[in-house]
Amino acid sequence: MIDIVQFQNELMSSNCFVVYDSETKQSFIVDPASEKSKDVIDFIENKNLSPEFILLTHEHTDHTWGCNALIDRYDKIRIVCSQACKDNLSKEGTAYFQFYFNKTDYIYNIKHIDIVLEDIHYCLQWDKRTIYFYKTPGHSKGSVCFLIEDKLFTGDTIMQYKPFIPKKTGSKEDYKNSVQYILDIFKDKKDNIMVYPGHGKIFLLSAIENFNFS
Ligand SMILES: [Zn+2]
Repeated sequence: MIDIVQFQNELMSSNCFVVYDSETKQSFIVDPASEKSKDVIDFIENKNLSPEFILLTHEHTDHTWGCNALIDRYDKIRIVCSQACKDNLSKEGTAYFQFYFNKTDYIYNIKHIDIVLEDIHYCLQWDKRTIYFYKTPGHSKGSVCFLIEDKLFTGDTIMQYKPFIPKKTGSKEDYKNSVQYILDIFKDKKDNIMVYPGHGKIFLLSAIENFNFS
């Protein structure tokens, strides 16, 4: 059985999740963004887990800043994201620290991206399970959602409120279409799909009707 534990990242209170099977000890990490990833590493060590992947929902630095700390700690870990996410990661890293911290000399580059979703047709095998990815541009060009069993990880595409959509790098039109795309895929299962968003609390997909998207 899959267990999921939620961590709050240092940047922008975004969510990081560790997904694991307590029997096989296999695990993967979603959106680590605390510079040293200390709480995540402590958890992994305490549970004796083997982290195989880092899955990135999108390229924004408040979802990626912890990757290098985990790469340094786990040399076999592989980073997985969309092509557009990969293409825009370093631009985002540079812009983020200039804008929020006025640090013009701080450049954040993830050391390596190992698997691009387009190359694996948006399906990833993990611990005898399949993770299905969905391309959901709008909040950013490289945004994706993904499903494992009945758990849907949505990054900043589906949360309990509408995310900020940057004028230059996002698209309101694409965002609307992407949210609808996800709702259409799961329309008959809304009461069974648990959503793990990029910020805020987890919720049942059917609860989205009560959220404010305007
Ligand atoms: Zn974002």
